[in-house]
Amino acid sequence: MTKGVPPNPRACQRCGQSYRPTSGPQKYCSDCYPIIRSAYNKEWKRRHPDQRRLIDKRAIANKPEYYRALRKYCYYIWRERLRKTVFGHYSNNTFKCVCCGESEQDFLVIDHIDNGSGNEHRRAVFGRINAGGKTMHRWLVKQGFPQGFQLLCANCNSSRGKHGECIHKKTLTAPQKPIRSP
Ligand SMILES: [Zn+2]
Ligand SMILES: [Zn+2]
Ligand SMILES: [Zn+2]
Repeated sequence: MTKGVPPNPRACQRCGQSYRPTSGPQKYCSDCYPIIRSAYNKEWKRRHPDQRRLIDKRAIANKPEYYRALRKYCYYIWRERLRKTVFGHYSNNTFKCVCCGESEQDFLVIDHIDNGSGNEHRRAVFGRINAGGKTMHRWLVKQGFPQGFQLLCANCNSSRGKHGECIHKKTLTAPQKPIRSP
């Protein structure tokens, strides 16, 4: 191979496509190279856990703010993805309150259909009754989306808690003043 003359096309060792190499020992096309490279890096990190920890530590020490923000961001993405999966499942993918149709995600909660046992259930499973949000969502996913839960807005949820059924579905009869018999 003479200098200055572009090398002959070569078949990529991953996808088999013909490509023009930019250097002698090149084995992969420019589409495949990054994939091979990141797989290699991943494998290297798996095989060298100690060096990896050291490298990570050094990187974090160099850019602590960046890594703090990154961790926060990744946690947020994970939480949102989890919430979307769970909300979608328990609302037939409408992402709305199954009672009134409220669509503001911030108002929506997973409701335990079997009324009254919500707290018992939370205590039994999580050891405390105020477990909600991500703990609950993760549990539902791990259990393979058990039946007996639905997506409700906070209003419908609290109304169900009070009356056993949301006020949207129930007509409340106010107590009548009794007539005093003579
Ligand atoms: Zn390729
Ligand atoms: Zn509602
Ligand atoms: Zn309702």
